Amino acid sequence: MPEDCVFCKIVAGEIPATSVYADQHSYAFADTNPQAPTHVLVVPRKHLQDLPDLAGDPAAGAGLLAGIRGVAEQLRLSDFRTVFNTGAGVGQSVFHVHAHVLAGRPMTWPPG
Ligand code: 5GP
Ligand code: ZN
Repeated sequence: MPEDCVFCKIVAGEIPATSVYADQHSYAFADTNPQAPTHVLVVPRKHLQDLPDLAGDPAAGAGLLAGIRGVAEQLRLSDFRTVFNTGAGVGQSVFHVHAHVLAGRPMTWPPG
């Protein structure tokens, strides 16, 4: 695991987080700077940098999708938005791939 990866440290339990869902491949926890009443981050346990990196690991990719479904089931979400930021230019700030799961307020389209 990269020494400085905050999400690897959360997966390892070295940084506390509010757990929402966990399984073999993925871990989900509340975002510390929520942008909606429900704002959960879903990450692969394995360190992968971004969505293209995740796509190169089919087990981790399928695992992350299952993790998103697990969050929706756990929180009984029927309507939710899922966002992957890829690259600093569109706002990726943590380079351990993560899905944002947002719910609980009206959402506009297109996203800003
Ligand atoms: P990005 O900007 O990379 O798409 O999303 C990174 C997200 O991680 C942000 O929404 C930010 O609030 C969240 N975040 C950053 N550091 C931590 C942390 O230590 N704990 C938690 N729970 N969320 C974090
Ligand atoms: Zn990592």
